[in-house]
Amino acid sequence: FEDIYKNYDAIYLGIGTTVSRSTRVKNSDKAYPALLFLKENKIGKGVKVGREVIVIGGGNVAMDVAREALRLQHIQYPGEKVVTKTVSLEDWDIMPATKEEIEDAKAEGVQFNPGWGPKEIKIEDGKVKGLLCMKVKSVFDEQGRFNPTFYEDKEMFLEGDMVIEAIGQAPDFSFIPKELFDKLEFTPRRKVKVDENGKTSLPKVFAGGDIVNLNLDAVTAIADAKRAAEGIDLYLKGKLK
Ligand SMILES: Cc1cc2nc3c(=O)[nH]c(=O)nc-3n(C[C@H](O)[C@H](O)[C@H](O)COP(=O)(O)OP(=O)(O)OC[C@H]3O[C@@H](n4cnc5c(N)ncnc54)[C@H](O)[C@@H]3O)c2cc1C
Repeated sequence: FEDIYKNYDAIYLGIGTTVSRSTRVKNSDKAYPALLFLKENKIGKGVKVGREVIVIGGGNVAMDVAREALRLQHIQYPGEKVVTKTVSLEDWDIMPATKEEIEDAKAEGVQFNPGWGPKEIKIEDGKVKGLLCMKVKSVFDEQGRFNPTFYEDKEMFLEGDMVIEAIGQAPDFSFIPKELFDKLEFTPRRKVKVDENGKTSLPKVFAGGDIVNLNLDAVTAIADAKRAAEGIDLYLKGKLK
């Protein structure tokens, strides 16, 4: 990035969110990250799924993952009893996935456990046996910030032989040297701050897409890129500082 920064007149950062977040609960290293699961199935060797898959998450990516897992189960275990279940912090009324995605997942046979948070992935003889969950008290705090709290004494054990974490993605900025990264400003929601031309606080760097907007969809990413392209054009013509 240092070379690019030195040698080019303007730069567009559209690196998306490529790192799957982890719950970091006990034994979460035994869980499959959502993006790796999808990638392996699309362009990798494919994933051998379990007969009883638990997907942690209540967003659209969790729905994609759960439906993909269920389809793979039917291919890999034809005629056998298989189940894919999601578990999400959010109850039905605040589940982040769109209604359409939830309905499609239900119609396909995905089971739901809304209002539960993961506590520990149970392992026996090195194999995943299930997920211990705690009942969610609240997902957001009084300021509306994501800050889940739990009833420590209300537990549920979900049996399963495979756990996939689909709790969100984060960007990977590690390729940007510290002295440049320090100049990059972020919003309170940890998005790269841009002005009305898509320009960041780092000189000659523009940005857009998932690292900038909260919509996290393709249409907004394309709109961001168009705005930044126009901004870069103005910048190269010397009409922007
Ligand atoms: C499973 C899943 C399903 C989705 N389904 C939908 C959907 O149905 N409809 C919808 O509108 N949106 C959907 N989205 C969201 C949509 O994919 C994103 O909002 C959109 O792709 C964001 O565009 P972007 O340009 O910010 O980043 P991305 O499309 O993620 O592209 C980022 C690119 O940058 C590259 N990159 C990252 N770091 C570097 C680096 N250091 N050097 C070089 N290249 C780098 C990556 O390899 C990637 O090619 C889905 C997302 C996921 C994860």
